[in-house]
Amino acid sequence: MSRDPHCVFCKIIAAEIPAALIFEDDLILAFLDIGPLADGHLLVIPRDHYIRLTDVPPELCARVASVLPMLSRAALEVTKAEGFNVLLNQGSVAGQAVPHVHFHIIPRKKDDQLGYRWNAGKYPEGRASELTAAFQDALTHHSS
Ligand code: 5GP
Ligand code: ZN
Repeated sequence: MSRDPHCVFCKIIAAEIPAALIFEDDLILAFLDIGPLADGHLLVIPRDHYIRLTDVPPELCARVASVLPMLSRAALEVTKAEGFNVLLNQGSVAGQAVPHVHFHIIPRKKDDQLGYRWNAGKYPEGRASELTAAFQDALTHHSS
């Protein structure tokens, strides 16, 4: 099991710092976010220290993803929220502050003022087909 002694989430896994644990199994931990965006805001992490989603082996990613419905159902029940956002930030440019891959489950209620709309753009002529070809090429040459 890989760990980084300086990583705050690895310290939670090792019980070196406390956290409000919600779920754990051999590969996964879920706990309350210490700075909740909403009541019941959860973080779901693999025990193995990976910084980026793009580094996580597919089988482990599948295991982490497999607990999201169960934890989200529990979050809805416990918080009486009407919906939730599942969020993963990769890279500081995307808002990643803790360098140990984690999914957020953020319960949502009507008029909670958190917002959810980002500014949607529009592809200029030809860009969508250019992207489709580039993605096909990338997935053919660099998949898994
Ligand atoms: P990020 O911005 O990296 O996607 O999210 C990191 C999250 O980790 C933040 O929402 C922050 O509140 C939470 N966090 C940071 N340090 C701790 C900690 O020591 N304990 C817990 N439970 N959450 C933490
Ligand atoms: Zn870590």
